[in-house]
This record gives sequence, structure tokens and C-alpha cells, in this order.
Amino acid sequence: MNKALQIAAALEKVYPEALCALRYDGEPWRLMVMARLSAQCTDKRVNEVCETLFARFPTYQSLADALLEEVEAIVRPCGLYHVKAREIIAECAMLRDEYNGRVPDTMEELLRFPGVGRKVANLLLGDLYKLPAVVVDTHCIRLSGRWGLVPAGEKDPVKIERILTAALADLPGSGQSDFCHRIVLFGREYCSARAPRCVECPIRALCPSADKEVK
Ligand code: SF4
Repeated sequence: MNKALQIAAALEKVYPEALCALRYDGEPWRLMVMARLSAQCTDKRVNEVCETLFARFPTYQSLADALLEEVEAIVRPCGLYHVKAREIIAECAMLRDEYNGRVPDTMEELLRFPGVGRKVANLLLGDLYKLPAVVVDTHCIRLSGRWGLVPAGEKDPVKIERILTAALADLPGSGQSDFCHRIVLFGREYCSARAPRCVECPIRALCPSADKEVK
């Protein structure tokens, strides 16, 4: 078993449930919107903002028809609110006009949507369709490096996605995206950017960076 699979198995024991931190209530279009809002914003804040957003616009059709200024005012706490508001309205319009409300299940189609890059597309593929999909976010980049799963100093999300996808190829179904959700939980609880808690870390035996000074 390679190192990535060993870490995936260890993290599964620490976090048996690998739930998405975004609360989208089983509504795929909401996850698409929330994923866009989550760029450079915490999941906690996105959840809070979206309680208001989805109370005001409970369907993708209503959000597609929303006034830009009104959506901007609601999503403002998420930052980058001009572009985020414009793009989530455009996403919903595209869902309505081209997909009859169904979030597509291929990378190629997802990348056609405004504001959807590979990270968001992989999140959607993994969470909605249980397809193999590695979500490379800031936690994944940091921890892949600390664990030595990618070459030292590698920060390119596309390269990291390629390396991890190959290393995790034996994980069935949603195993890859579950792994990525667990990385987020683990990064927050044990292995933050500034202060990793190596002494208490449940997977320190697998980590080449244990007790090393943070750079
Ligand atoms: S041993 Fe330290 S650096 Fe390694 S994963 Fe655990 S907390 Fe992070």
C-alpha cells in the first residue's frame, strides 16, 4: 500500500464520517453556488450567508432571476462579492437554460460554468456523483507537501491533483473525495499552517514532517 493510501486509511479511522462542510441540504445547485462563494472564504461564513441567500432565493430559477445588487448585498461577507454575485446568478441561469436544473456530472461540462474551476468541479463530482475526484484546496496543498506525497515545494494544484489521483486510484467510489474532506478536518484540527500539533497527531508515524519547524 502506498503512502497516500496508508494516510487515507489512517484518516478514515480518525474521521469515520467524511461530510462536506458546506450545508447544501441535498440540493446540488446549492452546492455549486456555495462552492463558488467559498473561494477565499471560510465554510462557516458561507453556511451563514447561504441561510439568508437560500431563504430569499429558494430555487435556482429564483436566483437566476435575482437582481444583482440584492445578491451582492447578501453575499458581501464572503468577499469578492461583485464577481461572486454575478457568477452565481449566471450559474443558475445556465443550469435553468441548458441543463434543466441538473448539475452535470462531467468535468468538461462543469468547467463551462462561470466561476467553476477544477477544484469546484471535483468537489461536485465527488459529492454529488460519488465519482473519483481529488479536491485540491489549501489544506490539500499544505498537507500533501508535509506528508511528502508531492515533490518538496510543489504548489501547483493541477500537478498535485494529477499526482494524488494516481496515488489514490485504488480507492473506490467516493474514496478520493472522502479523503479530501478528511484532509480539511484534519488540517483544521491537527495540522494547521502555522501550528501543527505533532505531539498529539494521530498519524505522526506516517509523517516525515513530524516535529519539524514550520516554514
Ligand atoms: S505529525 Fe505534525 S506535520 Fe505531520 S501530519 Fe501530524 S501535525 Fe502535521
